[in-house]
Order: sequence, then structure tokens, then C-alpha cells
Amino acid sequence: MKIICIGRNYAEHAKELKNEVPTEPVFFLKPDTAQIKNNQPFYYPDFSKEIHHEVELVIKINKPGKNIQVEFAKKYYDEVGIGIDFTARDLQNKCKEKGLPWEMAKAFDGSAPIGEFIDKKKITNLNEINFHLNINGNIVQKGNTKDLLFTFDKIIAYVSQFLTLKKGDLIYTGTPSGVGPIKIGDKLEAYIENEKLLHFEIK
Ligand code: MG
Repeated sequence: MKIICIGRNYAEHAKELKNEVPTEPVFFLKPDTAQIKNNQPFYYPDFSKEIHHEVELVIKINKPGKNIQVEFAKKYYDEVGIGIDFTARDLQNKCKEKGLPWEMAKAFDGSAPIGEFIDKKKITNLNEINFHLNINGNIVQKGNTKDLLFTFDKIIAYVSQFLTLKKGDLIYTGTPSGVGPIKIGDKLEAYIENEKLLHFEIK
């Protein structure tokens, strides 16, 4: 499986990092070794001094597809979950300055914790999903899919022009504003509406 991440998909987040608001989706990949499941802890790596949390809704691809039309995209996922796109912001800033790829800052082991998924049929309106991240009991990020620049269906249509999607692939759909550093000992909890679907500790 592969993990596809959408960057700059909430205008307020693009602005907080002083990036342009994109006119087409921006995407990058993480390998399967980035995944952390079952609320296992995240171990703070030695190579960064500034790991940021980015809470994101995640869609799970349910069948193979290529060049998917936007009007059929909803047939390619049944479940929505929540995860963290951990980012070594110090390394990413260096990569950006030099115009280099971001993998060292984005694709490292453990950089994609993923929680439980919920059946999308249980969600009344996919274009109005509330989600948030707590650290040590305080809300640090909250978002709503009404603020997405590119909807789930548009993301699938766009990405599948370049990459064949396969069953089990995950798409991290972008983070709202409020990203910031984590530290050892922090306890993270991520919610869709009022349902806690992911919780783990930084070690
Ligand atoms: Mg992200």
C-alpha cells in the first residue's frame, strides 16, 4: 500500500506557513513504514528538533482505479479516518530553501499514525465533517471539510491521473491551521465529530 498526502488543502494553513494557496492539489508520498497503527507510541527521532503535528482526515481506497472521473470518485472509498502527518519542519524548511524533495522531512518511519476508520455512510455530509486534535487535553487544531480547497472526490480524480490507486491505499487530505511542535511526553488525541479515533503518546 502507499500513503498519499495532500499539502496546502486548507487556505488558512497554507497562509500560516507563508505558502501560496494552490490552484491545483499538491501531493507527496509516504512509504508503508511511515504507518503507526493501534495507538502505538511515536518515538521522537534524533534527526529533527522540530517535529510538527498536522491532523488530517484520511480516506481509504477500496478498489483499484486510474484516471477516475470526479463524479465517480465517491465509489472508490467507503471509510474515513483520522491520522497525523508528522513533519520535521526544520528539515522541510531546509529542503524548501534549496528546492529539494521533502521525503526526509515527511516520509520518515512513524510519520503517519492512523486511527480507526468509520463507515462513510454514518457521516451525514462529507462536505461538513468536524475534526480536531487535542494535546494533553487542549484543542490545538480543528477543521471542517467545508474549508477544503479540494474535496475528497477532486483529490481522487486529480491524483489518479498520475498514480494508479490500489485497495488499501490511504489519502491524507490536508491539515487545517494550528500546526505546531510536539515534545516527548505529549499525549495526542484525534476526533471526528465527538468520536475519539486515535490516541497515542510521544516517547
Ligand atoms: Mg499535511
